[in-house]
Amino acid sequence: MNKKIIVLFRNDLRLDDHPALWHAAKLGVILPVYIHNEQFSMCNTAQSFWTYYSLQNLQATLDDYDMQLILRKGEVISEVLQLALDTEADAVYFNERFLPTERNEDEQLTNILQANNIEVKAFYGDALFNLSNIQNQQNKPYAIFTSFYKRCLQEPVRQPLGQPTNIRAFPTKVSSLALEQLQLLHGNWYHKFHHYWKPGIDGAMEQWELFVEQSLFDYHDKRDYPAKETISKMSPFLAVGNISIRFLWATCQELIEDEDNTIFSQQIESFLRQLIWREFSIYQLLNYPTFSTDSLRSNFQHFEWEPHSIRLEAWKTGQTGYPLVDAGMRELWETGYMHNRVRMVVASFLVKHLLQPWQEGYAWFEHTLVDFNAANNAMGWQWVSGTGIDSAPYFRIFNPSLQGEKFDTDGAYIKKWVPELALLPAKYIHAPQTAPTAILEQAGITLGDTYPLPIVDHKTARARALERYNAIKKA
Ligand SMILES: Cc1cc2nc3c(=O)[nH]c(=O)nc-3n(C[C@H](O)[C@H](O)[C@H](O)COP(=O)(O)OP(=O)(O)OC[C@H]3O[C@@H](n4cnc5c(N)ncnc54)[C@H](O)[C@@H]3O)c2cc1C
Repeated sequence: MNKKIIVLFRNDLRLDDHPALWHAAKLGVILPVYIHNEQFSMCNTAQSFWTYYSLQNLQATLDDYDMQLILRKGEVISEVLQLALDTEADAVYFNERFLPTERNEDEQLTNILQANNIEVKAFYGDALFNLSNIQNQQNKPYAIFTSFYKRCLQEPVRQPLGQPTNIRAFPTKVSSLALEQLQLLHGNWYHKFHHYWKPGIDGAMEQWELFVEQSLFDYHDKRDYPAKETISKMSPFLAVGNISIRFLWATCQELIEDEDNTIFSQQIESFLRQLIWREFSIYQLLNYPTFSTDSLRSNFQHFEWEPHSIRLEAWKTGQTGYPLVDAGMRELWETGYMHNRVRMVVASFLVKHLLQPWQEGYAWFEHTLVDFNAANNAMGWQWVSGTGIDSAPYFRIFNPSLQGEKFDTDGAYIKKWVPELALLPAKYIHAPQTAPTAILEQAGITLGDTYPLPIVDHKTARARALERYNAIKKA
């Protein structure tokens, strides 16, 4: 059989373990297509930088097969239909996505193509498990991560499919836009990201191998310390699908079997647990379609937020006077990434100390994170805010200075991202306002001038947040 199959690439910009491509390659000739819809996809975000260079790298990989990635811009359904009709394609294959808007689009696309007698096949997307199978004994979605996690460990994990050995192109030439014409990048904010990242399939593999060699063996012990960098930094690669989540899982399982070393296995299992947190966020998005926009706990509809543009701006620009918060926000702006422990602290600070709605933080992260992912971002914000189903209770309010003392004891992370505090002794670096004047002078710091005074007092802000929370508890 030699079918003509259009394979859609979306947030799975790779050839390895790409179920739609793998099945299409067995059945016929392929037209790989990427369509940029300005209405749904973000432009000029940190992630559009990532997408741009991932597409460039995907094309370079397809060159080995003498195949061109067809780039189009516009409304996805009409673009795909037109392409299928123009090329007389027999079928369109794609992998499932998880956002409600995306699922809706895929459903409409399927209906329209089928109405035109074009075969459509949707293959499973970038998840480890078949999440629609996972329910508790009452046939309801799991609400608690630990129960979900235990259940996942009993489920079969889908095996990675590898890269098809024989990918053949459509015989006729099809026109494509140039990558620049997608207009993913504007201005020059993103240029600096090149210092920190190499987006795409090749960069993903290099980063993964580096992590496995240098950090996986003590991931569990050190993952909470932002200056140690013992985390994988796979999140931006996973967000656009430069690497397969099933490949990461399978590699770790092989290492556990090969090593036969309990201590090493514990470190790897801790990493696998984080991958299941990712599954849990997709699971919640599938079960609660408004997960990324609305608080899941309905009593938060009555919460009295205090939208305040000056406070919000101070948070975004890393000018709150709380060094760990400022370091995190500046790392984010400079690199498009922030360590998970620091994400929790800055998120808690915005929502609880500054009383800004979590959706403001979600939107800023959507704009600035190279690893932005609606499911993980929503779960992160709803967990920290106490508005999610399985979340930190609202009354647990991080003290940003104590978090700094605990997880960045010598202040190395703060000194890197807030250089104006670099000469301050570690004893004072987490709360510069407590340093004696002479020490501040020696370190070249004038509070309120070279570095801000705290934008809010921790104790007062904590009491105010708890008061607001108690008000909705009664509602
Ligand atoms: C407020 C907030 C917002 C967040 N927004 C995002 C986001 O937009 N995109 C995103 O990928 N992650 C988000 N996270 C989760 C987490 O911070 C990142 O996944 C992690 O920091 C990525 O770095 P890493 O790849 O080195 O992680 P590692 O520690 O090496 O973990 C490996 C992988 O496990 C998954 N993972 C790890 N921690 C979590 C977690 N807490 N929740 C879900 N999956 C996890 C990720 O896929 C990650 O790449 C957010 C967390 C918070 C608190």
